[in-house]
Amino acid sequence: MHKKNAHFDVIVIGAGQDGFASAIRSAQLGFKTACIDTWNHNKSQYKLSDSHLNTGSLASMCLFESAKIYQQINSTISQHGIYAENISVDVKSMIHRKDKTIEKISRNMSDLFIQHNITHIKAKAQLVNDQKIEISDYDTQVTSIIKAKHIILATGSIPITLSGIPIDNKYIIDTITALNLDSVPKKMAIIGAGVAGLEIASIWNRLGSEIILLEAQENFLSLVDQQISCEAFRIFQNQGLDLRLGARVISAKKSNHKVCIEYQDQDGVHLLNVDKLIVACGRKPNTGELAAPEANLLLDDNGYVYADDYNRTNLPGIYAIGDLTLLGPAVSHKGIEEGVLVAQRIAGIHKSLDYKNIPCVVYTEPEIAWVGQNEQVLRANGENIKISVRTFNSNFRALAMGKNEGIVKIIANSITDKILGVHIIATQASELIAEAVLAMEFSASTEDLLSTIHANNTLSEILHDVLK
Ligand code: NAD
Repeated sequence: MHKKNAHFDVIVIGAGQDGFASAIRSAQLGFKTACIDTWNHNKSQYKLSDSHLNTGSLASMCLFESAKIYQQINSTISQHGIYAENISVDVKSMIHRKDKTIEKISRNMSDLFIQHNITHIKAKAQLVNDQKIEISDYDTQVTSIIKAKHIILATGSIPITLSGIPIDNKYIIDTITALNLDSVPKKMAIIGAGVAGLEIASIWNRLGSEIILLEAQENFLSLVDQQISCEAFRIFQNQGLDLRLGARVISAKKSNHKVCIEYQDQDGVHLLNVDKLIVACGRKPNTGELAAPEANLLLDDNGYVYADDYNRTNLPGIYAIGDLTLLGPAVSHKGIEEGVLVAQRIAGIHKSLDYKNIPCVVYTEPEIAWVGQNEQVLRANGENIKISVRTFNSNFRALAMGKNEGIVKIIANSITDKILGVHIIATQASELIAEAVLAMEFSASTEDLLSTIHANNTLSEILHDVLK
């Protein structure tokens, strides 16, 4: 337990994956370290870590694995000559498995804090000034001040809410509740066909829900290479997702155990009745009460913390990592790496993060993964490029698995041959992209990749074959 006016070398605010990694590295480097976190979604079950574990990617991934097994047994397994009867889904057991998995990881993380002698403070923290933090104890609500020479802000992001769409977490639900339903809703709508919306849709669609995704933008997955996003659109529609683009939701209200949604597209205003509505329309930095006004922490108009390429804020000794800043993509592995590098910089080990080579993944099936720049951005920048594309129809392993949907696309500079971007939609694209990240980290050319021998009958072979 911490003492009033305790003094640390490093205090990390936020025990998400990025804050956790930063605290562990700080302790490993010999700093007296504290990590403060207030996770209070369910007060009786305090769990370490953030949206990634408890409410986001990991929770989603656990459920998605269950949903994929169900769908495979239910629909495609007969192609293998295997027949199963009386298949049913027990959603409560699925949720229980997910919770148990998260609990296990959370416990491992807590154990690592203990092993590294990190003071773990369950409290709400606010940066005051002069390297001081005011903490309100999670259990007693008592406030006190603690200090550190170095403070790392890692409070992450929180879901955006929309006016006119009040979340009650019964009918109109957030992305946390969407991963904790106790039965399969018959018909659901999702506001936002972004990463979160698609991942959640992929779970409940496989478990039998009719899903309508209402997306305000005309372009589907606008950050993704357009050839890949077109392929994704086609595949997801074939899977039964009702993707409505250019459809901006205006309001939603509960009516007679249903949700009545009003949305507008180019044909006018429409009404839609569903059993549940999931709001997955983006996230914002969790900076609401992070710093007192007298701290003078510089934020932009959208609440992002100003940070330079070394994660230094405008205040000496105060750093910001992860989703709090606009540095690089909003993915957890970026924040984790930043957390480690900041701790090392405090210790005098200077290494910068190459934001260009951070992989991004959408955990659907097939998965979408990419690293580097996409075709539309490179063309807009006037780069000389050459493009190689191949479908997984020619990949023996994918065919054997019966998962041969998708394409791989490698973009290189047409003069230097240096690889500028790799984009994949395929089963296990999240694993395949690792090779591309390594290639780009070492400034590989397509010639380098082509002369790298890949094992026969593997999915990864396609990264070689696409260049032939
Ligand atoms: P997003 O920004 O990717 O998608 C939200 C979508 O909602 C947007 O396309 C937006 O146009 C749409 N929208 C907003 N208001 C609307 C309205 N009124 N009607 C219809 N559509 C509307 O946000 P997200 O999917 O919530 O994800 C948030 C962040 O978290 C992103 O940066 C994402 O990359 C990250 N994330 C990453 C992963 C991963 O790495 N696999 C998973 C989930 C989230």
